[in-house]
Amino acid sequence: MQAWSDKQRAQGKAVAFVPTMGYLHEGHLSLLEIAKKEGDSLILSIFVNPTQFGPNEDLESYPRNLDADLEKAEKAGVDVVFVPQESTLYQENYQSYVSLERLPNHLCGLSRPVFFRGVATVVTQLFNITRPDIAVFGEKDFQQLAVIRQMVADLKFGIKIIGAPIKREADGLAMSSRNAYLKPEQRDAALTLSRSLAAAKEMVAEGERRVAVIREKAREIFAEHPEVEIDYIELCDPVTIDSVESINGDTLMALAVNLAGIRLIDNTVLVP
Ligand code: AMP
Repeated sequence: MQAWSDKQRAQGKAVAFVPTMGYLHEGHLSLLEIAKKEGDSLILSIFVNPTQFGPNEDLESYPRNLDADLEKAEKAGVDVVFVPQESTLYQENYQSYVSLERLPNHLCGLSRPVFFRGVATVVTQLFNITRPDIAVFGEKDFQQLAVIRQMVADLKFGIKIIGAPIKREADGLAMSSRNAYLKPEQRDAALTLSRSLAAAKEMVAEGERRVAVIREKAREIFAEHPEVEIDYIELCDPVTIDSVESINGDTLMALAVNLAGIRLIDNTVLVP
């Protein structure tokens, strides 16, 4: 993999990289499209990374379909699909992890304590293996994108990180491999996330600046579906992810819920 990338670069080509956990949907494909525009050679990785899952999470049941993914990758013009074995990334006696001091102490990092350490570690490995010039990550995982940007700057990876906007279904549901778990009768409950974000946008457009009022509106929308268990409704600085109490500048509104054991996240940036 390293030799392949080095060869591309020697030919004057910029190597673009999109890491994923597979079960590709249009969100992933939009990242590939951006990567293809930004670079000359395109690498996709597919790896369900065990170190970012907690003991009671869905590592075992996480949806997988390599054949379908390879077909989509080919159609998207991917040059190389890198599908490592778990034992290649985490060989016997493996003991090196990358963790950040502050960014993980918010949002998903609180409910998923090993998540960002797992992500930062696997992305470091994937960067070292694929040696990209450019890498594309989705804003769907806003905090993850912030963690990667921070890590790349702190540790001088010299890789250009590009954020890609969230792809949604026609009804507003943010695309996610985990949507495959949703039963048709859970759809309306899943839509409480995008509905809460849309309501917040509207409130901000009408002049509302109080986070407490915006959060209360989201709570009301979630309350229409008591089966939706709220993990967090947070409004924060989009760079530091620190909570804010009023909307004074661009503000990240981030949501996470559990719906019958399915974790769903969504976010938007509110612009006053
Ligand atoms: P995953 O396979 O879920 O780990 O996601 C791989 C990459 O695709 C990450 O950078 C995600 O942020 C991104 N991604 C996932 N869903 C979406 C979406 N709906 N829109 C844009 N990017 C997404």
